[in-house]
Amino acid sequence: MTTSSLSSANKIYNSHSVIHHSDELFDILGVPVDQRAIFCDNRFALKVPYAFVQKIQGNDVASLLSDPILRQILPTKDEHQAVAGYVDDPLCEMEFNTHKSLLHKYHSRVLITITGACLVHCRYCFRQHFDYQANLPDAPAMAQIMTYLKQNPQIDEVILSGGDPLSVSNRRLFDWMAKLIEETAIGTIRLHTRVPIVMPARIDEVFLQKIHAISQQKRVVMVVHSNHANELDAYTKQTLKAIGQAGVTMLNQSVLLKGINDDVESLAKLSHALFDAGVLPYYLHKLDKVKGSAHFAVDDAQANELYRRLLERLSGYLVPKFVQELAHWAHKTPINVYK
Ligand SMILES: *Cc1c(COP(=O)(O)O)cnc(C)c1O
Repeated sequence: MTTSSLSSANKIYNSHSVIHHSDELFDILGVPVDQRAIFCDNRFALKVPYAFVQKIQGNDVASLLSDPILRQILPTKDEHQAVAGYVDDPLCEMEFNTHKSLLHKYHSRVLITITGACLVHCRYCFRQHFDYQANLPDAPAMAQIMTYLKQNPQIDEVILSGGDPLSVSNRRLFDWMAKLIEETAIGTIRLHTRVPIVMPARIDEVFLQKIHAISQQKRVVMVVHSNHANELDAYTKQTLKAIGQAGVTMLNQSVLLKGINDDVESLAKLSHALFDAGVLPYYLHKLDKVKGSAHFAVDDAQANELYRRLLERLSGYLVPKFVQELAHWAHKTPINVYK
């Protein structure tokens, strides 16, 4: 053990701990001080739950540093590279942000950013530059959203997003759902969250009981975000199953990421692991061109070839739809891999 690891060696971590400092992270992983130069800080700072760090694997420093989970969360100098076409708001979301906290881009569904906070800072996050400060939903904003939903009956589904909607307390989260049920006629409530993957212990009994009660009144869908089978250990799978058993339709979205899951083996294993946990693969997204993420981009021809091989390899229901989000389109756009 190195000298600097003494500080964190004395610290007690639990299943709800969140790590914000690179030295703390490297101490836990056992990466010696003289081999930490790969870290390079960023305004969108390092943030990762201890429970997610525990899924990082490797017997030596080289394998640790190339681990598919570590690469998703460790800020590196690559992020400071300016690359043409990579911008702050690649999806032009600000244009659709007509009401505070509300994004209405697709016909029948809206997305509400109920919080800017997230438990994990994924380095390729397309909302890392989003103006959450201007979008924090206070009581008047919440009331305005309810009015908007009543005035637009074509909206049948509300997606609670963020940030991560499960990073807020059960009380705040279920307050949103109760209001949606009482005040609107929507049919489906959807949660977009990575919390069950990065901090499964957050899914407590209260959450399971309350979501079960909601699922008796409305359709409830949860779309989690996992990119690699290593994220799905036994406890995480058990947690996902429990949410499904509470009446929630469980789906997953992934991002195709260079050096993380850009091979048939990884994607096939992920689909199988998800299915074991009662979760169906929904989307495989092409990387959004957000500033600082160019090093995660997979070459188009290679991505198409990879997806064709995945189609050959897996049962149809294990193949996620390969899509990209184009700024002004009213739906995710399927990628034609046969052109
Ligand atoms: C992705 C997204 C949705 C949901 O799209 P689905 O194809 O229904 O999963 C809704 N609103 C916005 C702004 C989105 O980016």
